[in-house]
Amino acid sequence: MTRDELLAKIQTQLKPARFAHVQRVEATAVRLAAKYGVDQEKASIAGLVHDYAKQRPDQDFIDAIKANQLDPDLLNWNNAIWHGVVGPVFIKAELHIYDEEILDAVRYHTTGNRFMTPLAQIIYMADYIEPGRDFDGVEQARLLTDQDLALAVAYQTKHTLAYLIANNQPVYPKTLATYNAWVPQSQ
Ligand code: GDP
Ligand code: FE
Ligand code: FE
Ligand code: FE
Repeated sequence: MTRDELLAKIQTQLKPARFAHVQRVEATAVRLAAKYGVDQEKASIAGLVHDYAKQRPDQDFIDAIKANQLDPDLLNWNNAIWHGVVGPVFIKAELHIYDEEILDAVRYHTTGNRFMTPLAQIIYMADYIEPGRDFDGVEQARLLTDQDLALAVAYQTKHTLAYLIANNQPVYPKTLATYNAWVPQSQ
């Protein structure tokens, strides 16, 4: 599939604002890949597909979790977690992308993971700092991402966990595992 064909398929799944976001994540990820010596084509594809499943109905995820015998605890969560963790089911079936490093970058883009390849770290950060993002701390996140990828992953992980707790949100266990793997080490 060419990049244009991939873009056209993604566009059918996403509203215009979300489609614009994934293109900004792609551009940011490709820039970071060049900087950190990561495969730029993988960064491009992972950036474009990371939110592929974001706008699907809940029932699609519930069916996919059951049909693929994924962790049944996933049924206790929602789209925020599903679109990353379960997204690769749809990316494989509909986009025919099977590269496990790309699929892991999608799986981990929301919650992070104890182990993330440089590509997964880049997608995690590109999603957080793409030029359309505007929140307290985004400028610090952008500076850190250009200086030290691991410190940037720790920064995002710490701030996301603090945000969830401040807002009485449930913390997905993998989000907490990411915190334990990345944040204490970053001192
Ligand atoms: P987006 O898809 O580009 O909007 O960004 P993400 O995929 O990174 O995040 C989707 C949503 O998941 C955001 O609102 C995050 O705050 C939220 N999120 C991340 N980790 C957790 C978690 O552990 N629990 C819950 N409830 N939400 C989370
Ligand atoms: Fe996402
Ligand atoms: Fe994110
Ligand atoms: Fe995103």
